[in-house]
Amino acid sequence: MSEGQAGHAVVAEASWGRDDYKCGHTGPVQYAHEIFGVTYRLQEGIIRSREECAQCRLDKAVDGITQCACCNTAIFKGQECMNYGYGLCCMSRGCGVGPIGAQVGIWNGSGFVDGILAGTVTVVKVPAGGFS
Ligand SMILES: [Zn+2]
Ligand SMILES: [Zn+2]
Ligand SMILES: [Zn+2]
Repeated sequence: MSEGQAGHAVVAEASWGRDDYKCGHTGPVQYAHEIFGVTYRLQEGIIRSREECAQCRLDKAVDGITQCACCNTAIFKGQECMNYGYGLCCMSRGCGVGPIGAQVGIWNGSGFVDGILAGTVTVVKVPAGGFS
């Protein structure tokens, strides 16, 4: 079982049953991924398609991954997050409300992209006198 991201991501709960995948590897037919201590399970249908083996899917998932500055869970490439200045927040419920002025945007695998530039945040013009 090989490891990614400094040993923080592994193929966990793998079954003994194995099959050939279209990526060219043989891998378990039942598995979960464990990334920064959190277990991620794929939908049955995705595994059954035999497109990519457990290890290839894990390698792809951890490519460009980063960690939430408050709860330490994974922030994946392309995931919406919040920039706290000292780090990024995954915006999960457990993380609570961030500091005032924190920007919402996207982690692009190597840096934070402001949500307005990324097109994920819409700027609403407030009419003079405010909303009625
Ligand atoms: Zn593979
Ligand atoms: Zn978090
Ligand atoms: Zn957080």
